[in-house]
Amino acid sequence: MSSTRASERTPAVPLEAGASPENPPCPACGEPLFGWIDRRAGLRGPVKRCESCGLGVVGEAGGAADALAVLDRLGGADGVRIADRAGFAAWIGGAGWAGLEPESRYLFTTEAVRRLVANRDQVVAKARWAPGTGIATMWQTVLNGFTFGRNVALAAIGQGTAAVAERPWQRRLDALISVVVAIPAFLAAVPLELIAAIFRRGAAKSLRFDSL
Ligand SMILES: [Zn+2]
Repeated sequence: MSSTRASERTPAVPLEAGASPENPPCPACGEPLFGWIDRRAGLRGPVKRCESCGLGVVGEAGGAADALAVLDRLGGADGVRIADRAGFAAWIGGAGWAGLEPESRYLFTTEAVRRLVANRDQVVAKARWAPGTGIATMWQTVLNGFTFGRNVALAAIGQGTAAVAERPWQRRLDALISVVVAIPAFLAAVPLELIAAIFRRGAAKSLRFDSL
């Protein structure tokens, strides 16, 4: 609807006619959001994605200020580290992507961050693959293919939050599977993530900001 247009702060990218309550504007670039993952237990709502900048939104779309507030929790004023929704891990993982955590609200890409920080006169000066987080994210994404819950292994070592399985026997089995499959999954994850990184599709990125 054109009535939402006046409130947009990114005049360079006009809203398409397809914007509607089901397709609210992307908080980063203003293009309509489309459905990606249906509402599911352990998430705050259905997940939408922007096909222009790649931002993922869980639940209500919110605005640029909301997305920037969430972004700032991933680092400081001069940079952040993101699980990249444009990465290969997100593509192979889909709903099982380890970057999708129970408390996730926004799922960032380098391009989405670029658009967002432009609102406060910042640019992304450097975007680098973050190898440790990248391999861990790919590893957990592979593991999620074997368990009822998600992100069980990373949560067990104090990284992020798990979406635990509903039933106690599933949770017990998940703990066992995570141990048994940990090493084979790691052996698969390392080359996958290295190849992804070569093609600039690593699972995690460190972004450094400069002010204009
Ligand atoms: Zn967007």
